[in-house]
Amino acid sequence: MAVPQHRTSKTRKRLRRTHFKLTAPEIQPCPQCGEYRLTHHVCKNCGTYKGRTVLSVK
Ligand SMILES: [Zn+2]
Repeated sequence: MAVPQHRTSKTRKRLRRTHFKLTAPEIQPCPQCGEYRLTHHVCKNCGTYKGRTVLSVK
């Protein structure tokens, strides 16, 4: 098994971790009904995507 030759310092560890952070989900209002939905996703409220009805919503 590989064993690290040098202990990673606090700074090294923190510098490495500056790159991984959570990103907020892309939420935009639906152009059809104004309901908030994820971008590039079918609207669950009215069932449309790019102005087309994709789902039948009761
Ligand atoms: Zn909608």
